[in-house]
Amino acid sequence: MGKIKTHDVIIIGGGPAGLTAGIYASRAKLKTILIEKGMAGGQIAVTEKVENYAGFSAGAGRELIAIMEGQAREFGTEMVMGEVKAVRLSEDIKVVTTNRGEYRAPVVILATGSHSRKLNVPGEDEFMGRGVSFCATCDGPFYEGLPVMVVGGGDAAVEEGLALTRYAQKVYLVHRRDALRATKIVQERAFANDKIAFIWDSVVEELVGDQQLEKALVRNVKDGQVREVDISGIFIYIGFIPNTAFVADEVEVDEGGYIITNDVMETSVPGVYAAGDCRRKLLRQAVTAAGDGATAAFAAEKYLEGRA
Ligand code: NAP
Repeated sequence: MGKIKTHDVIIIGGGPAGLTAGIYASRAKLKTILIEKGMAGGQIAVTEKVENYAGFSAGAGRELIAIMEGQAREFGTEMVMGEVKAVRLSEDIKVVTTNRGEYRAPVVILATGSHSRKLNVPGEDEFMGRGVSFCATCDGPFYEGLPVMVVGGGDAAVEEGLALTRYAQKVYLVHRRDALRATKIVQERAFANDKIAFIWDSVVEELVGDQQLEKALVRNVKDGQVREVDISGIFIYIGFIPNTAFVADEVEVDEGGYIITNDVMETSVPGVYAAGDCRRKLLRQAVTAAGDGATAAFAAEKYLEGRA
């Protein structure tokens, strides 16, 4: 266990919500530490192209994150790596324990984001990294000239399916309904791309192969027919699960595990705020996560003033 440190604000999570909270808290001259378990950036860091973050129109997600991280550091946010193991949030001074040390502060901002939902079908775990992927940006280039499958009908599935057409010979897009959920402009691009073949009203039942993934068994939910589709890779984009299990006993969460906040990002516990994809909200995007982070840090500043 490392030594115990005290700050004004502890931010957990280094995606757009956490980094923006860092920028705002540091500019308010609060002693701010941001704890991130891996590389900064969260999901957007592995997004191929960001075109709907106002003011940033065509770069990769990792470029946007590098700018945010630079800003947070410049204003004084201390960045540490560490995986949070336990939190004690109910007391006035909150305690966050990571695998690398313990941190204390009167304010904690939870910006932990979410992780990919799995299909939970036979073969998914077995072929992980040998055909099964949750990141087209990371693994797409391995599938040059090969057939791949994308599962899901939201923005992530369709956008990443489009990105995969740059490498793959063919992209099967399997969706459980007959209409996409993705933003209309993204849908139009997908429908116009002749490398994408839609398999509607269908779910993946099993993934089969020897050393590597070779095929998916896909069942039509309307007529029950199962077909085999030859593929070398499958990219699963069927939504996300909030990374909130470690605080679910401490702050109020909804039935999906999303942290419930009010409009200034306060959770059910005084001094604890939530920002970004981990909280219950209408629109989970980098731009709304950044807005949440700014609001949370500003509200935290007021809370600390009231406490002084
Ligand atoms: P999403 O919008 O929740 O879509 C998940 C998709 O997976 C839906 O089409 C859903 O089908 C399907 N699905 C869910 N559970 C399934 C299951 N068990 N089996 C098969 N299919 C299943 O998730 P997302 O696309 O990952 O996006 C998450 C958030 O990030 C959204 O708010 C999205 O707008 C945002 N995002 C934005 C961008 C962008 O703006 N550029 C890019 C990526 C993501 P149904 O449609 O039938 O429910």
